[in-house]
Amino acid sequence: MKVTEHIKQANGKTLFSFEIVPPQKGQNIQELYNNIDPLMEFKPPFIDVTTSREEYIYKSKENGLLEQKITRMRPGTVGICASLKHKYNVDAIPHVLCGGFTKEETEYVLVDCHYLGLDNVMALRGDAMKHEKYFSPTKEGNHYASELVAQIKDLNQGKYLHETIETPYNSNFCIGVAGYPEKHLESPSLDSDLKRLKEKVDAGANYVVTQMFFDNEKYFDFVEKARDFGISVPIIPGIKPIAVKRHLQILPQVFRLDVPEELITEVEKCKENKQVRQVGVEWAIKQSKELIAKGVPVVHFYSMGKSDNIKAIASKVF
Ligand code: FAD
Repeated sequence: MKVTEHIKQANGKTLFSFEIVPPQKGQNIQELYNNIDPLMEFKPPFIDVTTSREEYIYKSKENGLLEQKITRMRPGTVGICASLKHKYNVDAIPHVLCGGFTKEETEYVLVDCHYLGLDNVMALRGDAMKHEKYFSPTKEGNHYASELVAQIKDLNQGKYLHETIETPYNSNFCIGVAGYPEKHLESPSLDSDLKRLKEKVDAGANYVVTQMFFDNEKYFDFVEKARDFGISVPIIPGIKPIAVKRHLQILPQVFRLDVPEELITEVEKCKENKQVRQVGVEWAIKQSKELIAKGVPVVHFYSMGKSDNIKAIASKVF
């Protein structure tokens, strides 16, 4: 079922959902299930599965030189979605990227998703590759998420890249896109970023999931501004509990977001990361309770592979 239908059916009740990251190549999928199992009691209507960009790895050659190879370390997004749908009877949402894929390859991914009965896809541009400073679009790929949304919308109407096929068997994907309460790191201003978000919605996006934030006011202001820009689709807040002290440096650096002083003080008081994890859980509980009280459609958690803290939060708020 589509995310928008889940929201409609919930009739004002806030839903619980989360995002998982595929295991590293060569790892057992059972570990993924072990992390998902404890969260299923909170009845997530959908689970997102991220897609990772390709990256360079270096192999030593016999002559002592290094050989550069390009590889994808966490493949399997669509396969994992199929397995989650089958195993848990849940809607699994593959993240589809511009970066690293030609439009043709994207079309094949979407055709697979359609055949597998996946009703939703999350359309994202992706970040720069690890060795790049800035995102550079893949040759013959989509440059921005809005173009990817347009490609998916076309497919929903039977418009393939090289032909239009009139058939009753079109895809009918519900399309999610990313939103940034503290603006996207490359964007010159929040207003400019919101204009871009509006373009994604105008291109056919049906809902927005936000980047993590630690101050709910940022989310409430963002939603208000988005509505002023004419964005009327559901805006789902994304929450990540802080888990290690290093997050205080890494998260603002990578995502250009603010961490409230009160949270910084609580984390800095901790002697070990076990205590930091608890502080992160308590902060996320506070955030979630307020978001639910204000009637958000879904609280979406970034699980980053470990679910004990998400379970601790969900058991207090859902
Ligand atoms: P876009 O919407 O294309 O925007 C990118 C930047 O370009 C913004 O600054 C925007 O303002 C600007 N822009 C947009 N259109 C134009 C235009 N026409 N001209 C000029 N500027 C423009 N990354 C992954 O690699 N894998 C994932 O699975 C993944 N999942 C994510 C899930 C969520 C909920 C979120 C919030 C992010 C996720 N990301 C993921 C990260 C995401 O790929 C990055 O944040 C990326 O840098 C931007 O993606 P986007 O889809 O928002 O890009």
